[in-house]
Amino acid sequence: PQTQLHLENAPKEVKELAQTFNMMLSRLSQSWEQERQFVSNVSHELRTPLTIVHGYLQSVLRRQHNLTEMQKEALATAASETEHTIRLLQDLLDLARADSGYLHFHIQPCMLNDLVTEIVGMAEQYSERVINIEASDIIQVKADRNRLKQVLLNLIDNAVKYSAPDTPIFINLSQQGQEAIIQVCDQGDGIPLQYQSRIFERFYRVDESRNHATGGTGLGLSIVKTLVEGMGGSVSVRSRLGEGSVFTVTLQLHY
Ligand code: ADP
Repeated sequence: PQTQLHLENAPKEVKELAQTFNMMLSRLSQSWEQERQFVSNVSHELRTPLTIVHGYLQSVLRRQHNLTEMQKEALATAASETEHTIRLLQDLLDLARADSGYLHFHIQPCMLNDLVTEIVGMAEQYSERVINIEASDIIQVKADRNRLKQVLLNLIDNAVKYSAPDTPIFINLSQQGQEAIIQVCDQGDGIPLQYQSRIFERFYRVDESRNHATGGTGLGLSIVKTLVEGMGGSVSVRSRLGEGSVFTVTLQLHY
């Protein structure tokens, strides 16, 4: 690793110390790599059968005329739990890939307005919420289309989860200097200031008891950060407890 110590001209004891340090470092990085590989393999192996199980559950649920209420409820719970687990596995897989540098981005010019309209249409359907888009310009960015969709879906998903159904959600598109600015705004729970820097960490959730019902994994925002930074952009949050949150993503403009 680049961080190895090179102390050729140092006294013997210091050289020995440096050798021991280097040995420890290379063992550590080996075991980190093994851990990443393990997470990646397990996620991959579990995702395939679970996707099949989910497919079967969905197809039984669709033809549910001869099921009792209890059976329907049990199947619906099983379907939503498998869906949740599949998402968790996909997130783990993406993060493991990002850690080992295997997360590739296909950066190309993207018409931001069209992409946001498409994603908002999808999100409105499954969330049954109204999501308003405010855009003063037609904006083109340099991004990986699918990864950008994943980013926006995650942020919209959170805005939906952490705000009351009768409150509005806004997506604001603008540009400043060399950057496009995408803001996802909700008038929901908000996030206390002391937690705002931690929510982008893996598995971090502000309040487990408050969040339990929302069924998240605590990985969404760390994925968002990894993906946005991988596309050369940044993500930040501004929020006040009880008033709502604004997540801001910046990306490079394409001229
Ligand atoms: P989760 O799967 O828990 O939603 P995320 O990584 O997406 O995981 O978010 C981490 C935590 O940040 C959430 O558990 C929640 O406490 C907080 N959070 C994220 N987005 C919002 C939001 N729009 N409003 C309030 N809290 C939020």
